[in-house]
Amino acid sequence: MADIKYIFVTGGVTSSLGKGIITASLAKLLQARGYSVTIQKLDPYINVDPGTLNPYEHGECYVTLDGAETDLDLGHYERFLNVPTSQANNVTTGRIYQSVINKERRGDYQGKTVQVIPHITDEIKMRIKLLGEGNKYDIILTEIGGTVGDIESLPYIESVRQLKWELGPHNCVSIHLTLVPFLSAAGESKTKPTQHSVKELLESGIQPDVLVLRTEHALGSDIKRKVALFCNVEEEAVVVSDDVSTIYEVPLKMLDEKLDRIVLRKLNLPVEADPPMKPWREFIDRLKNPKHEIHVGLVGKYVELPDAYKSIIESFSHSGSANYCKVNIEYIHSEDINENNADKKLKGLHGLVVAPGFGSRGIDGKIITAKYARENNVPFLGISLGMQCAVVEFARNVLNMEGAHSTEIDPETEYPVIDLVEEQERITENGTTMRLGGYKCRLVPGTKAYEVYGKEEITERHRHRYEFNNKYLEEFAAHGMIVSGINPESNLVEIVEIPGHRWFVAVQFHPEYSSTVVSPHPLFVNFVKECINE
Ligand code: GLN
Repeated sequence: MADIKYIFVTGGVTSSLGKGIITASLAKLLQARGYSVTIQKLDPYINVDPGTLNPYEHGECYVTLDGAETDLDLGHYERFLNVPTSQANNVTTGRIYQSVINKERRGDYQGKTVQVIPHITDEIKMRIKLLGEGNKYDIILTEIGGTVGDIESLPYIESVRQLKWELGPHNCVSIHLTLVPFLSAAGESKTKPTQHSVKELLESGIQPDVLVLRTEHALGSDIKRKVALFCNVEEEAVVVSDDVSTIYEVPLKMLDEKLDRIVLRKLNLPVEADPPMKPWREFIDRLKNPKHEIHVGLVGKYVELPDAYKSIIESFSHSGSANYCKVNIEYIHSEDINENNADKKLKGLHGLVVAPGFGSRGIDGKIITAKYARENNVPFLGISLGMQCAVVEFARNVLNMEGAHSTEIDPETEYPVIDLVEEQERITENGTTMRLGGYKCRLVPGTKAYEVYGKEEITERHRHRYEFNNKYLEEFAAHGMIVSGINPESNLVEIVEIPGHRWFVAVQFHPEYSSTVVSPHPLFVNFVKECINE
């Protein structure tokens, strides 16, 4: 059995350089060459998982099929690789410490002093190697969050240093991503920050094998040579990543820069012809040469920070490309919509999406949006809280249930059309009562949902506490909002739709988490298709 190969990606100079995209792009190229690969993210923050983080701080919380609340970079990994990730793919410092402290309490360390080295670093190394168990993967890529030099990153960097030593040079490659800024006053790109960043890594005992230089301007070979010389890296192993118009071009860029070849050579793996990237190129070709153009309103309360809706936005790239359509997303703040201005604010949009969310802020604007879409026959996709708002709206305005609401927002409502189901009526630790991860859903033949998916049983990912209240099911159906998807085990409502409407589908789950480049999500694809058919 061949050894598993490890690739570590660190970042220097600044955050937000797109380490996740570079890592996912390299993984894509290696996967296209036939290797089985996975990507792991190590996050240096102390939250046990990102589930409790405010989206304003850290963007969207991405949910895996096995129900882990993870960093949004895992979404990129899945969108690029089209293979599911799991809890093991995202480890935070909080989780590492939690597990070490639990072991200490259990007496596992037999009275020894518990320290960052070796106990925390051993736990980190164990988590990195865990993914390699079962021989599922040939290559494991590990992205270290944060920036080299941060206090928080030190135990991770030390763990990488130790692993490089333990695994040997041909089983391990370390890639360092840095920024090469352009100073317009001097008319020059500057390599000094990169040199300092590599020095910092060297102080921690890691000599990077490959450098990826992020830059807004093309860099000449003189810069590459200079960086290679001063950072002690082969010239060929200095790779440039300049700005591209879509993140999906990065794998092709890295292919041109031969990043995959350099890495394979360093890992002593055969380097043959280029990997087949035809479907990927076709995807980009359709994305960049659309035949149609639509404007979709995305109504939510975090619109100032589009990262909060990352997966939804990317799902529109995938479904747009599938339809040869440029999808312009108009971000609309749900707090800005009221009964008086809805017509003005929402008019002219080809489709409306009401976003997921928690809590009452902006809820009225979301309910009004659902009403506008229903009454004006505008294609509508409601996602999780968006679905719940559509249900509340229908109850109030069609079933005349005045004050109908979700008990999340109004616990005293006379018509709790969205409510906690019995088994969830216990509030324990933050996060633990949520329905998280993949659940089966049976689709009802003859419905829009069934037509869209083309099959009877699907699995979709969830992240919510509240549910459609089945007490009202028949009344809704009798007045035109039907259930088209239901959980076969619990009978919980997963999809509602309005058959009399052009395209009105609202889902309790999150389709956006499972849309990928090669497998765009059918709900988004069909929604965009309908929006094009004005
Ligand atoms: N706040 C709602 C619930 O908990 C919806 C959550 C969401 O949109 N993901 O049920």
